[in-house]
Amino acid sequence: MSNETLLSRSMHAVWHPCTQMKQHEDFPLLAIHRGDGVWLYDANGNRYLDAVSSWWVNLFGHNNPRIKDAIKQQLDTLEHVMLAGCTHEPVVALSERLTDLTGLGHAFYASDGASATEIALKMSFHYWRNSNQPDKTQFISLQNSYHGETLGALSVTDVAIFKDTYAPLLIQSAQMPSPDFRLAAVGESAEDFALRCAEKLEIYVHENHAQLAAFIVEPLVQCAAGMGMYHPVYLRRAREICSQYQVHLIADEIAVGFGRTGTMFACESAEITADFICLSKGITGGYLPLSAVLTTDTIYRAFYHDITSKGFLHSHSYTGNPLACSAALATLAIFESDLVLQQNQHTSTYMYSQLQQRIASVDINIVHLRKQGMIVAFDVQTQNPNFARDCYSKALAHGLLLRPIGNTVYFMPPYIISESEIDFMLETALTAVTASM
Ligand SMILES: *Cc1c(COP(=O)(O)O)cnc(C)c1O
Repeated sequence: MSNETLLSRSMHAVWHPCTQMKQHEDFPLLAIHRGDGVWLYDANGNRYLDAVSSWWVNLFGHNNPRIKDAIKQQLDTLEHVMLAGCTHEPVVALSERLTDLTGLGHAFYASDGASATEIALKMSFHYWRNSNQPDKTQFISLQNSYHGETLGALSVTDVAIFKDTYAPLLIQSAQMPSPDFRLAAVGESAEDFALRCAEKLEIYVHENHAQLAAFIVEPLVQCAAGMGMYHPVYLRRAREICSQYQVHLIADEIAVGFGRTGTMFACESAEITADFICLSKGITGGYLPLSAVLTTDTIYRAFYHDITSKGFLHSHSYTGNPLACSAALATLAIFESDLVLQQNQHTSTYMYSQLQQRIASVDINIVHLRKQGMIVAFDVQTQNPNFARDCYSKALAHGLLLRPIGNTVYFMPPYIISESEIDFMLETALTAVTASM
């Protein structure tokens, strides 16, 4: 089967996500045949370095032998059983491990990030009903936040291009000033700006807490907003404010969890524990769809009752899928055996210092060069309205899969990327950026 044929069959049969399909008339799909390490290969043997970890899910490379073997073993034992009324070893073991790592308990599973957001929102709302505080029904989130595309998740998302069309369908929520350091005043430190944003949060919560169920936040990095990074003091203050006014804090660690920001979970940078944590993306190393929400014993106990409807009656068909859980267990085992967080510090430092040096030697207008763990980003100042698309195409032509968000160019590679692969990634990216200004 030729590449051409596959592309046209895909255009006829598949509705691609987050895509205006008509744009593929002059902007072809990329047909991937296989993956290995940081590389994706097309049918003709051309390879592309996956600098975005396949939408932020891949941690230890494509075709990872340990994760693959764990799934194969599980496949010979039990592929799936419903989790209502049944249980199995992989889901129990994974829940125990996640509790050890997060300090929260009773993992509730779904298959994607948006569903995890829905679960946390519904659990929070339902907790307040079960606790005789039925007025606490509203949610707040940050400006420029991203929590997924289903109606509840989109309601607390604040990205106009995804949200505006569906506005009449969404539940009301309020957005708090984002501590994204790029929005700080000239000369203001990241910490001062974060504290200033937290003050505004406190004013809002002080006035509205009687109606507020929860504040949902992406800890440390607002990834979809273009890798908007902020000082951890904001999380510390948010935790204090939420506790003081009895508002749940939901940590959406779907993108930042599992080592992406340097610590296992981003909340650790502020030494806080949220009331709910939402996990997905890297949880299976990028192998199978899985998400989880963990919460406190206090919240769990408010559902534990003789009355059936006080329980959390939410479900998804593939909840706790054993194959996905076995991939997640293998992923967590790699973190332990390979001292991944320590190793990532070196990789992150190398990636950032190399980028600094290379940027100094090119003549392009770059602002806000920044990093947080295994995310490195900068913004370009350009008049080209199609910068993101042009840069994507030019990088691809040289063997690099890069997906700029607006004028933000970011690197979020699999953790196993080598120094020579980093060199290739940065050199190719800067060539593509320069040619797209
Ligand atoms: C990707 C993402 C989601 C949604 O996850 P899906 O699996 O795409 O539904 C939610 N929150 C954050 C922070 C994300 O990055």
